[in-house]
Amino acid sequence: MVPEPTRPYAIESIWRGEHHHFEVRFTPRFVATLVNAGGAVDLRRGELLLPGGVRRDAFGVRDDFERRTGNHAPPWLFRWPERDTFVLPRGTIEVDVEPGTTTVVLVPPRACTPIFVCLDAAYLGRPVTYDADAFSALDARVWKPEVRHLHAGVELVGLGARPLERAAAAFEAVCGRSARTCSARRTLVESRLRDVFRLSTALLEIVADGSTSSRAAVDETRRLLPGLPPTSSQPADLIDALGTLRRELAAELMPVRVTVVPSGAHFSALPEMEPLRAQVAGAPIAMDEHGAVVTSGAPLQSATVVLQGRRYVFLPAEDLDDLQLASRHELYHLLEAQLLTPAQRRRLDALHAETVANAGPFARPYGFLRQEFLPTMAEVYEGGYGHEGVDWLRRHHGDLAELLDELTGGRTAARPLRASRRRR
Ligand SMILES: [Zn+2]
Repeated sequence: MVPEPTRPYAIESIWRGEHHHFEVRFTPRFVATLVNAGGAVDLRRGELLLPGGVRRDAFGVRDDFERRTGNHAPPWLFRWPERDTFVLPRGTIEVDVEPGTTTVVLVPPRACTPIFVCLDAAYLGRPVTYDADAFSALDARVWKPEVRHLHAGVELVGLGARPLERAAAAFEAVCGRSARTCSARRTLVESRLRDVFRLSTALLEIVADGSTSSRAAVDETRRLLPGLPPTSSQPADLIDALGTLRRELAAELMPVRVTVVPSGAHFSALPEMEPLRAQVAGAPIAMDEHGAVVTSGAPLQSATVVLQGRRYVFLPAEDLDDLQLASRHELYHLLEAQLLTPAQRRRLDALHAETVANAGPFARPYGFLRQEFLPTMAEVYEGGYGHEGVDWLRRHHGDLAELLDELTGGRTAARPLRASRRRR
């Protein structure tokens, strides 16, 4: 068919059983160019029909997607210009041509749905289930936790020796190695933080006096911030950059409380969760920095919450006694947020960007989000999908598996925890 200019056409694009609904509109210039060329549009298949029976994918990216993922590509797929991501639109897209050419371009919608492939294997972790009582505030007479020191700035709290030992072992397995090597780094971070405060004060004095005579603080700041473009050497710009660095450094030093949530209780029932209790009840929905929505149907059983300058990491006792997959997932968040070096974080940034550009494969749909990339991949590494998953990780994400070996000291093939699960 030849579309009517500017009229919105409702489209349903199906990919792996999911229905994506959006609208496509064609600009008058596009329609004129199409008519001129003697062409038409196949709305359902997202293709342009050209004379001589030639079919052309509207945005010309489906072949690339199929080559990278080995999966059939859905109609109307395109690459989001904001970011190197294969997406389907949400809302309305407008199809146009570059003036004076036949090159199809699109006016992207405000939001898109990323399309990518994931590991397709059975998850061995057993989600903790909660009854209604699990969410009501814990009785203060029951909740009198023991506090143990795990590492500089990290304490472990919970009830009973066995859950605490299991939590300490999980922390050791995921964070132990980095925690030990980062003690020296912690001292370095503290000293850099002192430099940041001293230089911020010196620069503020320059701004206040309007004097340009004191270059020492400016030069020293530039040495502390080597990534700064040469154009920004104004004291006010430098103060901003120091502020960003201060927040990054402070985050690495944030005190951490790892809490074992007692059997039968949800973490929102703990007294420290009082201010957030109402918010955590709903199903989790995450949105990335470009507005791509990724939902997870899984109930939130473990969690990390930053409250009043402290990071709380909640690990359910049931999970610690099982495969520890939810707990270890949360500990990988802690590892990345506070224990990795900036160089290790940059390696993860690059591996994530590469996976996004290749449309996967991710471990789980919400592993598409940058902050969930390491924890979800680590669940595979920890045996959450059995040997099939471990093989998949080595095959598709060899560099990441290597980084995980480096961070944790490596894993032996089989996890002995399977036995404790069967016993129940
Ligand atoms: Zn997570």
